[in-house]
Amino acid sequence: MAIHARRLLGPGMMNPVSALEERIAALEGGVAAVAAASGRAAQLLVFHMLMAPGEDIVAANKLDGGSIGPLSHAFKSFGWGVTSASPDDPSAFAAAIGPKTKAIFIESIAHRSGAIADIEAIAQIAKAARIPLVVDNALATPYLIRPIEHGADIVVHSSAKLLGGHGHCAGGLVIDGGGFDWLQDQRYPMLAAPRPEYDGMVLGQAFGNFSFAVACRMLGLRDFGAALSPFDAFLTLSGIETLPLRMQRHCENAMAVAECLAGHRAVRWVAYPALQGDRYHELAQKYCPDGAGAVVAFGLRSGEAAGGALVRRLNLFSRCAEVGGARSLAVHLASTTLSPSAVRLSIGIEDKKDLIADLDQALAT
Ligand SMILES: *Cc1c(COP(=O)(O)O)cnc(C)c1O
Repeated sequence: MAIHARRLLGPGMMNPVSALEERIAALEGGVAAVAAASGRAAQLLVFHMLMAPGEDIVAANKLDGGSIGPLSHAFKSFGWGVTSASPDDPSAFAAAIGPKTKAIFIESIAHRSGAIADIEAIAQIAKAARIPLVVDNALATPYLIRPIEHGADIVVHSSAKLLGGHGHCAGGLVIDGGGFDWLQDQRYPMLAAPRPEYDGMVLGQAFGNFSFAVACRMLGLRDFGAALSPFDAFLTLSGIETLPLRMQRHCENAMAVAECLAGHRAVRWVAYPALQGDRYHELAQKYCPDGAGAVVAFGLRSGEAAGGALVRRLNLFSRCAEVGGARSLAVHLASTTLSPSAVRLSIGIEDKKDLIADLDQALAT
């Protein structure tokens, strides 16, 4: 199967793009992968394969800011609907699924809040509804969480985040878990119906358990052209070489920062799932016992405006919304599901003493 997958999915010669596809498929425990120009492009490939006009997905309501825009606005021009549900309450997904719902979409670790999703509970709901569960694993990476092992059918990545690791490349990935039956009840015509552009071939029959990846390539990537450049693939591959080391450091630093904030009198609340007593602590122990990722959120006692001022006083943290890189970032989220004045940190791989010193001086004022 692996040999077939390589012949069919990539060019005969191993270029960096097919090397990256093979590597991420292996790391995620999937059967095949397809690289795309960005995380957003990877999402588009997936949804295009699953939805026709008039159909919808149920998506977690804590998706990263960039995903919410396209999901709720741009998708309208494709005739695609999005219903949102809180990942904190898996039964909300069951309640939101209608006859035209074609997938559930969640993040393993939420971009906005760092919350951990109960992937297994949501996967069971998807299975009962006979729709695939799509998990955005950009902020966990397979080092911390492998969603396919917990029942996810498809995994997507923005490789510009932790996989690349240095904010120096763009890219997205789709990983096919290989376990979904695309031919049941003809509900997914891209895979289950004869394709006129390929002489009536039924992709789900022709390509077996890696037909979703093949379909993303043949019916999505080829037509839309949102391909990953070989150079970005090369940068992502070199980033992945150091993924375990960086993830260990991200998690160690984030835990140290979260503990420091939790003990600070200017801080009202801290959200980091690895912290004792955090509302996601049990889920973190189950899904990512090696660490809860880089996102730490907190709120100040002194109210809404103070968060923005605090972020401006930080020197080491850059004020940028791109999470998951080697350098630490801080943003003031004026309005979030967490609270009206959350500060969201993405903790990098600097020396944790320097990060804590910077936060201390900013909190002192
Ligand atoms: C950044 C991000 C995306 C979007 O990816 P791009 O590569 O910027 O298109 C999607 N999902 C998550 C969780 C992200 O953090």
